[in-house]
Amino acid sequence: MIKWLLPRFTGNKNEREVSRIRPTVARINEIEGALQREPAEKLLSLTSSWQNHLARYHALNAPPKSLLEKMDGAGLLATAEGIEVRLSALRKEFPSLPSRVEANQLSIEAAKSAFHQIEGDFKKSRSKYLEKILPEAYAVVKNAARRLCGSEILINNQAMKWDMVHFDVQLIGGIAIHRGMIAEMQTGEGKTLVATLPVYLNALTGLGVHVVTVNDYLAKRDSDWMGALFRFLGLSVGCIQSQMPPSERFNAYNCDITYGTNSEFGFDYLRDNGMASIKEEQVQRGHYFAIIDEVDSILIDDARTPLIISGQSSHDSYQFDALRPSVAQLVKRQTELCNTFAAEAKRSLEKGDNAAAGPILFKLKLGQPRNRQFMRLMENPEIRRLLEKTELSFQQGSFKKDLHKLKDELYFTVEEKTRDADIMERGRKFLSPSDPNSFTLPDISQLIAAIDSNHKLTRDQSATAKTVLRDQTNAQAGKIHGISQLLKAYCLYERDVHYVVKEDKVTIIDESTGREMAGRRWSDGLHQAVEAKEKVSMEKETRTYATITIQNYFRLYDKLAGMTGTAETEVAEFRDIYELDVLPIPTNTANIRIDDNDYIFKTRREKFNAVIARIESAHAGGQPVLVGTASVDSSETLSRLLKRSKIPHSVLNAKFHEQEAEIIALAGRRGAVTVSTNMAGRGTDIKLEQGVAELGGLFVIGTERHPSRRVDRQLRGRCSRQGDPGRSQFFISLEDDLMRNHASPARMAAMIEQSAAAGGKGRNGESIGKLVETAQKQVEQRDYKGRKQVLDFDDVMNLQREIVYGFRNDVLTNEDTRKLVHDIISETIPTKIHELLAECDPAESNFDPLLHWIQTSLPISITSEDLTNQNENTLSAMIVEKVKNAYHDCVSGVPLELLDQQERQMFLHAIDPLWQEHLDAMDELREGVYLRAQGQKDPIVEYKNEAYELFVVLMEEIKQTALQNLFRSAASLRMMISQRKASKV
Ligand code: ADP
Ligand code: MG
Repeated sequence: MIKWLLPRFTGNKNEREVSRIRPTVARINEIEGALQREPAEKLLSLTSSWQNHLARYHALNAPPKSLLEKMDGAGLLATAEGIEVRLSALRKEFPSLPSRVEANQLSIEAAKSAFHQIEGDFKKSRSKYLEKILPEAYAVVKNAARRLCGSEILINNQAMKWDMVHFDVQLIGGIAIHRGMIAEMQTGEGKTLVATLPVYLNALTGLGVHVVTVNDYLAKRDSDWMGALFRFLGLSVGCIQSQMPPSERFNAYNCDITYGTNSEFGFDYLRDNGMASIKEEQVQRGHYFAIIDEVDSILIDDARTPLIISGQSSHDSYQFDALRPSVAQLVKRQTELCNTFAAEAKRSLEKGDNAAAGPILFKLKLGQPRNRQFMRLMENPEIRRLLEKTELSFQQGSFKKDLHKLKDELYFTVEEKTRDADIMERGRKFLSPSDPNSFTLPDISQLIAAIDSNHKLTRDQSATAKTVLRDQTNAQAGKIHGISQLLKAYCLYERDVHYVVKEDKVTIIDESTGREMAGRRWSDGLHQAVEAKEKVSMEKETRTYATITIQNYFRLYDKLAGMTGTAETEVAEFRDIYELDVLPIPTNTANIRIDDNDYIFKTRREKFNAVIARIESAHAGGQPVLVGTASVDSSETLSRLLKRSKIPHSVLNAKFHEQEAEIIALAGRRGAVTVSTNMAGRGTDIKLEQGVAELGGLFVIGTERHPSRRVDRQLRGRCSRQGDPGRSQFFISLEDDLMRNHASPARMAAMIEQSAAAGGKGRNGESIGKLVETAQKQVEQRDYKGRKQVLDFDDVMNLQREIVYGFRNDVLTNEDTRKLVHDIISETIPTKIHELLAECDPAESNFDPLLHWIQTSLPISITSEDLTNQNENTLSAMIVEKVKNAYHDCVSGVPLELLDQQERQMFLHAIDPLWQEHLDAMDELREGVYLRAQGQKDPIVEYKNEAYELFVVLMEEIKQTALQNLFRSAASLRMMISQRKASKV
């Protein structure tokens, strides 16, 4: 009963939401009707009047105090008048503002600070106003679209005629997006046009709206296409492309609207905040509103790997080069071993000795799940069932104790499901016969405690001992990690499935889209391990300069919204992680696609044969077919088979990324056969050629179920756009990864038997659908957990990143760098003094440690007499004062602009290297807590605590380094100036 009620209830909730929006839609259409009788100028004048109103909420661009001090009367008057104009527009709403701004420093400063007081409320004012003008603004956009009809626009240098006026459902979608929701609209419903409504409305604020697309091609296409509409309304549009130089990026970001891909936006953010050395190098100007097209692809699929900007560093702590040959040997040994297991298993099975065969099969699965003979055995449902039973008895049943004995026969174990590899005792002995223990980690806290309790050691000796211990442990951990990553690279990552090798490079393939993810790298050394395996040049060890997860990048925005055809299955994740609600929006015309039940086969070969036969019959009648595959590999197999059957076709996969849009656009032609990895060509419209509708429209064949239901829906959605006819069907086999790893073998076997009884045609009913869905849900959940974990860890980093980037930005933009210098002096010196005083002996007037430090790092003179009989506070204050004066003396006469620049650089030189080292340390820490996780500690808790400690140390170190750099940089500055003077003379 409840089960029946629940979906109905949620369905109703969404429908209610949609009907609540309907009156606004009516209102928009009414206003738009009236606009049709107005001249086109009316649209422009409305636009600029709204822009003018919203401009009152911009930041106040007033000169800093230091500049005001130097201004003459005329300058002050002009400044006061400028501020007066801004305040006058705001006084009605914010009565707290001063009633007059006088042309003097005091009054101007007061106005500035009164303005800052109210700034926090601007967000609310702005959104209230936008809400108010929404119907009229949307009517303006719709009316502009109407006026554009028939006019020619250039899209990617090809002329096209504009022929769209927003449908009602598109207005609904546009409203949902403005409200920060995900508009779920089917493929072909015209989401590109939907976005114009909220984009226009929010761009009126002048804060910059970012429209995020899945690839460069779509960014360019949409900015050209929709740009026509925006420009018609007087707004500026920019587009970021991957190879663009910074100056062009800067211009694009300065537009009212900016199109680009998620990684370009993210990388620009990282470069701006982690790498730019002067303000002018920064290209972004803020994060107001992002509208993400194909939002599931970006926020869910792409969120698995963080964005990383990295460079090379000198050493290779994982020692991949050294380890690779022996690991390759190890893998070979295991393969040989597993082949003998397979033979043994076959013999026992032939003898009918299942008790003996079961454990051997399980060993095989643990040791080499993709072993050919093993996979062949698994085609037999009885044997699958036997393995399943054996596995259960080892995991929870009577043989639980024997599991490690079983594993001990292997060199290492591999777990396909969780993508893990673990080296066993036997493997360790193989790699290091003389000392297998060189692959285990000592208990470092115990050893440290031992050092601490050793009273014979002096403080220095014990510190040295600890450093040595830490270094050894780190080297050891690096080696262990290196081996495990190499094992993964060899046993779990397949060429052309998980990555491609091209031009001496390993490029990741996105498993959902089949798209090459240029510039992305697997983290934790895995990428280098794969490079080592493929023997391409290995980027020795990369140092991370800056990194952020997609999740945390998009959380930077004040407002976030999205659109896609497939969001419903991921509602929970959107809600939990991004606080985004999903609103399914009805289609413009009813969808008449026919979704056939799945066909299931025992083997991939049988499946592919059936697929070819089905393509052949559709093709013979002229019906276009789009075939989706799960990997580049299957695409190629299929293409070979099609060639053999002499069926002309085009292949579209990660390797031919560039032309994919052009190929897929033609997939609706009569007789076309297009093979494509699952989501390649996403976002490109497939139009049916004339006469194709009569043949049943586009026929979509899925050759494998994808681990995520969403991706299957996406594939089905490629046909039957806008009321077109169309059909979809999936073909699956027990050898598919999804079925092997996640479906219940017993039930599958039963199903196959049933179908065999029914004539062996492989056809089966809805029960297969259920089975597949269960497996998919399992994977979806696992993947969600994975993403959540990446995020949990990145959240810790995120806090730190915000603080460091905040400080860094302050350095780049602060009007008064001298103040930053003073702050550093007054913060660091007392800490240092406190620390050193503890080593002094004031009673004996012995201040040597402190004096030594002062003499070697600060250009001031202090004697022990100066220090006697003073408490710490006055002593600190005195030294701080002296240091400030010394600094002033050092830099007096240096032109202010030059000094300013030098000071900024001095800070950056303190921040950047230390932050980068810190990122490395955090990486190590993350690995470390995983190793410790075996000791029943929660890795994330451990990570948080230790990360906090590391961070405290980092911030202190940054400040101390800045202090140390301070006088060195001042000295070099003076030297530079005197040289310049000398050369002029
Ligand atoms: P989606 O992104 O939702 O899959 P697109 O934005 O690619 O859809 O649009 C699909 C097709 O529908 C395009 O060819 C577009 O020109 C057309 N289209 C969209 N909106 C309208 C409209 N209001 N009137 C006519 N054609 C439209
Ligand atoms: Mg689209």
